[in-house]
Amino acid sequence: MLDSADVVVIGSGGLGAATAFNLAECGLRRVALVDQHDIGSQTSPRAAGMVSCLRKSGFMIEIIKLAAKKIARLTEETGQPLDWVRSGSLKVARRAEDARVLTDDLRRGVEHGLDVERISPEEARRLNPFLMVQGVEAVLRIGDDMYFDPAQVAVGFARAAEDRGATLLPNTRVTRVLIEKSPGCRGRNGTRDNQHPAGGRRRRSVDSPSSSGQRNRGAACADDAATHRHRADLASPR
Ligand SMILES: Cc1cc2nc3c(=O)[nH]c(=O)nc-3n(C[C@H](O)[C@H](O)[C@H](O)COP(=O)(O)OP(=O)(O)OC[C@H]3O[C@@H](n4cnc5c(N)ncnc54)[C@H](O)[C@@H]3O)c2cc1C
Repeated sequence: MLDSADVVVIGSGGLGAATAFNLAECGLRRVALVDQHDIGSQTSPRAAGMVSCLRKSGFMIEIIKLAAKKIARLTEETGQPLDWVRSGSLKVARRAEDARVLTDDLRRGVEHGLDVERISPEEARRLNPFLMVQGVEAVLRIGDDMYFDPAQVAVGFARAAEDRGATLLPNTRVTRVLIEKSPGCRGRNGTRDNQHPAGGRRRRSVDSPSSSGQRNRGAACADDAATHRHRADLASPR
């Protein structure tokens, strides 16, 4: 069994499996994807599979737009199958206060370039014959929304990670994570470049200000990883 890796990803749901895939795709050879159950078998395959683009903040809308593009290109990027369809969706308000929420959503969606419009209850009924239109105050049609088969995503990313050299460790529980200061590295305030113990790459000083003059948070995370050795204790595979 593997006793060391450059990166150990704990949890092989959509998030962990995609992380392992992207690390392997970036060229990291020793990536381990560990799960206490079967790979990609927990929450992720049980999701409804909706990509709902209209969110409460512009930032979230932009993130979901990126996620939607990723889903549409998943097969091309990973070689794994994924059934998806840009079905669009309807948001229906039956109370005046909910209709005001839809008005806000519509404005935000248009600002962020979504294919979103207000339609009449009759038009909504034409699009979805199961919709009961009595008492409907407002309806939005969101053309960008997608549906995908959630059972294929985590497993697909995990298989694609394995194809690129990652090691999958199903039925293996992480029982604790030990974080030890790595002897060859300097502390967070160091200004000298050091070897990254994981990838052998040079890292930048964390305290260099970013262009906006703010502390570079991404670099701070990289620094934590570089100055500390992480050890994950694993239960024996069942
Ligand atoms: C009913 C339902 C419907 C949903 N519908 C949607 C939807 O339509 N659209 C949408 O975008 N999202 C939806 N979601 C949310 C979505 O499913 C989750 O956000 C997503 O699956 C989370 O992925 P994850 O990788 O974080 O978690 P998971 O898929 O749960 O993966 C976490 C993994 O970590 C493993 N793990 C935990 N602890 C350890 C340990 N100590 N050692 C080893 N392994 C460990 C677990 O076994 C598990 O496999 C829905 C969720 C539910 C429950």
